[in-house]
Amino acid sequence: MTETVHVPLPGRAYDVVIGPGLLAEAGQRIAPLLRRPKVAIITDENVAALHLDALRDGLVRDGIDSRAKVLPAGEATKSWENLTACVEWLLDERIERRDVVVALGGGVIGDLVGFAASILRRGVRFVQIPTSLLAQVDSSVGGKTGINTRHGKNLVGAFHQPSMVLADTLVLDTLPLRDLLAGYGEVVKYGLLGDAEFFGWLEKHGPALARSDDSARIAAVRRSVEMKAEIVVRDETEQGDRALLNLGHTFCHALEAATGYSDRLLHGEGVAIGCALAFELSARMGLCPQEDPSRVRAHLRDMGMKTDLGDIPGELPGPDALLDLMGQDKKVVDGQLRFILARGIGKAFVSADVSENRCSDGASRSAGV
Ligand code: NAD
Repeated sequence: MTETVHVPLPGRAYDVVIGPGLLAEAGQRIAPLLRRPKVAIITDENVAALHLDALRDGLVRDGIDSRAKVLPAGEATKSWENLTACVEWLLDERIERRDVVVALGGGVIGDLVGFAASILRRGVRFVQIPTSLLAQVDSSVGGKTGINTRHGKNLVGAFHQPSMVLADTLVLDTLPLRDLLAGYGEVVKYGLLGDAEFFGWLEKHGPALARSDDSARIAAVRRSVEMKAEIVVRDETEQGDRALLNLGHTFCHALEAATGYSDRLLHGEGVAIGCALAFELSARMGLCPQEDPSRVRAHLRDMGMKTDLGDIPGELPGPDALLDLMGQDKKVVDGQLRFILARGIGKAFVSADVSENRCSDGASRSAGV
């Protein structure tokens, strides 16, 4: 039942292994990477309570000793303070240049620990064991690592590819439904950006995936990882095509900033709304058929997800303020917003040619104003 997607980056190639029960097999999978039978694991408190013992048992079975550090859960953990704490702890544990650090958790842990590994002793190897759907389909693959600063999200970081990714689909059973659906926002994004057939498959099988059908989960994670890997191999450091992965993200980042990076809107929820807005905008610009945004929204609604600005609890700033927030996005090049637009489902492209009026138009329409 296990699937493997190879990420063939020259000199930094690695496998993403996907399937049930991989925590129990972690020892045998990781052992070939080790020079001595010892690893350092960093995780968060939620994941530690549910899955840390299983991972350590899986390592011990192959004679691998592990030390673990447990951090608070949540986006605020991606901070300078925790970066320092991780690096100092890894040094306390005498983790050497040839050792391996393990990131066990969602995207927050993966991003933070990957960054810590990239700067520890000028770079040690790390293994991603992603435990949220978002981390399995997106953040654990591709080597973007980093932390947030008071200036915004992910503004400090490094490209540092993992040496292996173990995506155990059984751990998704303990993920709260809201987090699972937020991760599903990124899954839908792959269909929308480059694979109409996959989007059609999701329309049919998405509900089973949400109900914990393991074969649907494996298939969705595999296809998402394949698509991410293909794009990352074409453009590792986002000089061009990798920006396609940001479909929905310019809207999403503005909405996250407007909601104070709080529980009002999870990242993947913002991505889903952002994808719907990107299709709305594309249709208004005459780039894609009018029915495409409706089809996107219909699927998100079927899944019980947020689809419009009006679904976000509390007040939101008006279209102008949202546009201002979009202007601070990292994807702004020479002061121009680069949008990911679409010529249809599965046909996204990068465009710098979007007037401000069009954007605020799309935002007002989604807000129903
Ligand atoms: P997260 O790491 O905060 O996890 C979400 C919540 O689920 C947390 O409370 C966590 O403790 C809990 N959790 C995780 N796995 C669980 C499990 N199996 N059972 C029970 N609870 C579990 O957030 P996330 O949604 O995984 O990731 C979001 C982060 O990923 C953001 O910081 C975002 O910037 C980053 N990201 C990075 C990339 C990249 O390419 N590096 C891509 C997309 C997103």
